Amino acid sequence: MLKINEHYLKLQASYLFSDIAKRVAAFQHAHPDKNIIRLGIGDVTKALPPACIAAFHRAVDEMAVDSSFRGYGPEQGYAFLREAIAQHDFQARGAEISADEIFISDGAKCDTGNIQELFSSEARVAIPDPVYPVYLDTNVMAGRTGAFADGRYQGLVYLDSTAENNYVPKLPNEPVDLIYLCFPNNPTGSTISKAELKTWVDYAKANKALILFDAAYEAFIRDESLPHSIYEIEGAREVAIEFRSYSKSAGFTGTRCAYTVIPKECAAYDSAGNKQFIHPLWNRRHCTKFNGVSYPVQRAAEAVYSDEGKAQCKALISGYLENADLIAAAVKELSFDYIGAANAPYVWIRCKRDSWEFFDMLLNKAGVVCTPGAGFGKCGQGYIRLSAFNSRENVVKALERIRQALA
Ligand SMILES: *Cc1c(COP(=O)(O)O)cnc(C)c1O
Repeated sequence: MLKINEHYLKLQASYLFSDIAKRVAAFQHAHPDKNIIRLGIGDVTKALPPACIAAFHRAVDEMAVDSSFRGYGPEQGYAFLREAIAQHDFQARGAEISADEIFISDGAKCDTGNIQELFSSEARVAIPDPVYPVYLDTNVMAGRTGAFADGRYQGLVYLDSTAENNYVPKLPNEPVDLIYLCFPNNPTGSTISKAELKTWVDYAKANKALILFDAAYEAFIRDESLPHSIYEIEGAREVAIEFRSYSKSAGFTGTRCAYTVIPKECAAYDSAGNKQFIHPLWNRRHCTKFNGVSYPVQRAAEAVYSDEGKAQCKALISGYLENADLIAAAVKELSFDYIGAANAPYVWIRCKRDSWEFFDMLLNKAGVVCTPGAGFGKCGQGYIRLSAFNSRENVVKALERIRQALA
């Protein structure tokens, strides 16, 4: 008799987006003429930069001719892309990362979800609350938690991100081995300073722990004092893995390209206490389970680093950040506390009532869809997230309706 992995049975069904969809559908059915504006999505809405499209087309044409056709590429990604990343995303910022420490993949979701399989099932895991659910659910699947009770999985260390700590969690007061951090943050849009990030790096070094740093939103940083990469922090090469993605920075959510950085010094330990480097283990996993990102997609990603590509991505991000500024200004004018917008495409709003109650109010009175904060964790209760991923026109219209609904 085949038995299943019973850890999967512990998973809480994620009702968040299906609940939202149901409520929106019911509202639309009752008000067929009402035009609903969605500020709830975490997906980009603008077309790929023209430089990426041109490179994508050229690469597709190469695939049409035997002499330039390419079959399987290197599992870790083509050197042209890995070298461009090392140079532009790291060395240019004073972070010592080399091309062979970069693994190209089809998404930061898969990478942040898969990385945990390199570590012991006994690893003590620290996860922020509120959180991008991938970190949490993949550790539940792997059996690193107990049952779900009272809004949380037993056996995990939750890192509360609240108004009290300005949405940057404090160091845990019990020992942990594996630490997930995401800055600029989804869902809160909060950021971490170099000094705060240094306390985490120092903690990891002192405790032989490892930081998994999700920097999917680094391109939205406007405050030049903030770290774009954890490797801008001294000592991070030994204790941190970083995840990046072209999804939000260049509009690749439907095109699929991302990468993971594993410095050669980065290590964990075997049961005899011997240091084991992570780079060769991840390389082994990657080559065993993955056959590389498609050649045209890697060429499209490479074009992000051309002069035109850089300017076009910057314009794309500025457009979303200007939306975020408009949302923040409106929220402030309506006397709500909020965080985000400054260096992220999200605004995290303290709604002074239940998350879902506020969601229903915005939907029914303004025809605007937000994301209830409670869907991201216990600490998200009493908050909603508004996303800047929409057209200027829709954002302006939505904010006007919200002002009227709350007047
Ligand atoms: C969008 C997002 C990603 C990117 O995921 P992809 O699989 O590369 O599209 C990673 N982390 C967070 C927190 C995100 O919000």
